[in-house]
Amino acid sequence: MTDSHSNSHVHYRTCCLCEAMCGLEIAHNQTEIFSIKADKADSFSQGHICPKAVALQDIHDDPDRLREPLRKTAKGWETISWEAAFDEVAAKLTTIQKEHGANAVATYMGNPNAHHYGTLLFVDRLIKAIGSRNRFSVTSVDHLPHALACTLLFGNQLFFPVPDIDRTEFFLCIGANPVVSGGSLMGAPGFTKRIKQLQERGGELVVLDPRRTETALLANQHLFIRPGTDVWLLLGMINVLFENELVNPGKAAAYVDGLGSFRQEVSHFSLSHCASQSGISEEEISDLAIRFASAERAVAYGRVGSCTQIYGTLTAWLIYLLNILTGNLDCEGGIMFPKPAVDLAKLGQLSGYAGSFDRSRSRVRGLPEFAGEFPIATMADEMLTEGEGQVKALLTLAGNPVLSTPNGRKLDRALEKLDFMVSIDFYLNETTCHADIILPPTGPLEHPHYSLGVHAVATRNSAKYSPTLFKADTNSRHDWQIILELVSRFGADSLIKRVKNRLSKCIFSKLGADGLLNILLVAGPYGSFVPFKKGTSLAVLKKAPHGIDFGPLMPLLPKKLYTKNKRIQLLHPLYKRGLE
Ligand code: SF4
Repeated sequence: MTDSHSNSHVHYRTCCLCEAMCGLEIAHNQTEIFSIKADKADSFSQGHICPKAVALQDIHDDPDRLREPLRKTAKGWETISWEAAFDEVAAKLTTIQKEHGANAVATYMGNPNAHHYGTLLFVDRLIKAIGSRNRFSVTSVDHLPHALACTLLFGNQLFFPVPDIDRTEFFLCIGANPVVSGGSLMGAPGFTKRIKQLQERGGELVVLDPRRTETALLANQHLFIRPGTDVWLLLGMINVLFENELVNPGKAAAYVDGLGSFRQEVSHFSLSHCASQSGISEEEISDLAIRFASAERAVAYGRVGSCTQIYGTLTAWLIYLLNILTGNLDCEGGIMFPKPAVDLAKLGQLSGYAGSFDRSRSRVRGLPEFAGEFPIATMADEMLTEGEGQVKALLTLAGNPVLSTPNGRKLDRALEKLDFMVSIDFYLNETTCHADIILPPTGPLEHPHYSLGVHAVATRNSAKYSPTLFKADTNSRHDWQIILELVSRFGADSLIKRVKNRLSKCIFSKLGADGLLNILLVAGPYGSFVPFKKGTSLAVLKKAPHGIDFGPLMPLLPKKLYTKNKRIQLLHPLYKRGLE
């Protein structure tokens, strides 16, 4: 497309930097960007943008962005060929695993992977090829309590209910700052505007936060709760609901179990105790509970502040329960489940990632696994503590855990002691500086984009494909290509594995990320395998540069529940133990 005023080209794209999925209008001349503005016609973000969007240009032009593989030598970093880099990485990791066992190689997946379909679709192959139990990711310092609650309540860690913000009358925001974040586990571009619209239709925003955040400044009421005590406030609210006969799960009553035993468990927490713990008075807790239950449509939403704290597991669960008990699950204006064009939760279930808990424990601190991963907080222990099963090598895929995870200094020391480390990353940072080899994938404007992970937590059902803006150098590799190259080199000592891995590389290289995405779109809820029947496919999305809107969130339960009996167990034994 051409912009007639400047005679430059216009490229439409979704910003991949956060969950708001803003549509961008980028003016360029094939090699240079002139401007990045909001795409007013974008089907999802409808003209919202934030100042961070221009960072896409900064990343693209950044001379510090790595474009060729690097190897660390005694004299510093040197560039090497891709083939030499792949061979060396595979050989080193294979040797270490032969000598010390499969678990001697750990993996770490950073946050950017959640925003890139290329890695999301292929990383499973790499994890399985490495075959180590020592898997870590950003999940345990981000949203693990929510994922656990979704696993135990709804049967799938990727099946998240999100606030139906545009139809609610009461938004209770706990430990979150969506005015700044754009929403997390809640794709909601233009949150400020949406809250103002809520208030204009007579609704309320109540914020529970020890800080006067940007979101709190918009609130009708801000309760300065004592840090880490949300669990008490929620227990107090729920007790008020029971005592005032305000518990009414509505249509969910037909498929929830354990209401009686849950009531009994929470009755041990007196309102006065909840008030003294949280610093919110009994009157304020009662008033909040009654207003929440009385609102025609209400939603309770919690994010990082509510889950990365001492009682995060219970807090995340109780937030979902507050919605369920007041009849706000799977209802307009409450918490609802998105129906994305690629059914991520189904995909997770088919590939064995629907969620699990405590199937094994970490070697050093005995921490439970979740979804096959141990908490990142113990990765350094696994590297520094000698003995059988000690981690000797690490593969990182995006992210900077030395800077972003607890006790970064200890991790910094631990990485220094590894026998080998490889990072798939296009920056040298506090973490990747420890790598022996760095494999830099193409930058965000050098490959297509589809928000595979984020559509699954969006406040409206939509789909959008963004093509490549700038063709990458011929000597560059997309991250999914790097993954396939590495996978094809593992298992060199087993003929069956070797044949399997090479065959897999052959098939998936031909298919590519787009081919796989197309299959998933066609197999998804808006696609169709029937010839000539119109359905969503990659070709259809390519003709819709502003994306396709599939409408507001719709009720999906109980049919869509992933629990074995299609019911929701309110009081899982794990939470019962937590309350004791
Ligand atoms: S709010 Fe998020 S998605 Fe939107 S422009 Fe800013 S960083 Fe990009």
